[in-house]
Amino acid sequence: MKHVSFLIDITKCIGCRGCQVACKQWNRLPGEKTVNVGTHQNPPILSAKTWTLIRFDEFEKEQGVDWVFTKIGCMHCEKPGCASVCPVGALHKTETGAVIYDDHKCIGCRYCMMGCPFRIPTFEWDKAFPYIRKCTFCYDRLSEGEIPACAKACPTGAITFGERTELIEEGKKRINANTGRYNPHLYGEKEVGGTSVLYLAPKGIEFASLGFPTLGERALPTWTHNALKFVPGQIVVVSALMTAFYWLTKRKMKNKAEQEEV
Ligand code: SF4
Ligand code: SF4
Repeated sequence: MKHVSFLIDITKCIGCRGCQVACKQWNRLPGEKTVNVGTHQNPPILSAKTWTLIRFDEFEKEQGVDWVFTKIGCMHCEKPGCASVCPVGALHKTETGAVIYDDHKCIGCRYCMMGCPFRIPTFEWDKAFPYIRKCTFCYDRLSEGEIPACAKACPTGAITFGERTELIEEGKKRINANTGRYNPHLYGEKEVGGTSVLYLAPKGIEFASLGFPTLGERALPTWTHNALKFVPGQIVVVSALMTAFYWLTKRKMKNKAEQEEV
């Protein structure tokens, strides 16, 4: 399968949230009870039940305000920080570009939440046996030759799905053809070694003001690898034992709960 990506053109997004709803429908994610926090952004943040979200940002201009809508979710990094810190290999980058996870391996340690520079993975806090949750790039649809549900639902073409190299070219083409419309920075081309989600922003709007972190080009796993070199062997062994103990206890409790349910 080809190495695929999204090109998200923020200038084309009308904030209809079709992508947000399509993601919920395909992944059978329930609605969430939320409160009004003074914005139309709803729910306010990503969660284990909301894997993609439209951010609503308001910018003052000379006459009135400009609304900017940004679809956020997992960036499917080329060298994912989440996967590099997971002690049991529950997360991994697939040949398609999607970063997916395996519930059977996850031990709930939440290191991936700390290892992600975009603060994406969320935890099922309300479950007895919680796991990590995030966008999977509709990996199950990709395997069947389908495109991700959000890209299929978008009515304005704000989400283009295709090969990463072609989308980088397409993004640059749009910037060069319309310098009055676009910010010249194609976000995700180089950040932390590149991501499989690329963004085009409106001219005059910095990515930082849309909530995107300002990151260097170096992939995060190279930092983790260098840091881990200095961790003494005994600490690694003790951590591994604690992890194994946690995992066994969790399995035992789960089996017991399942037996009681029968
Ligand atoms: S954005 Fe975060 S969760 Fe997604 S692949 Fe990158 S490091 Fe992992
Ligand atoms: S479906 Fe397209 S236009 Fe609608 S909110 Fe999502 S990205 Fe924007």
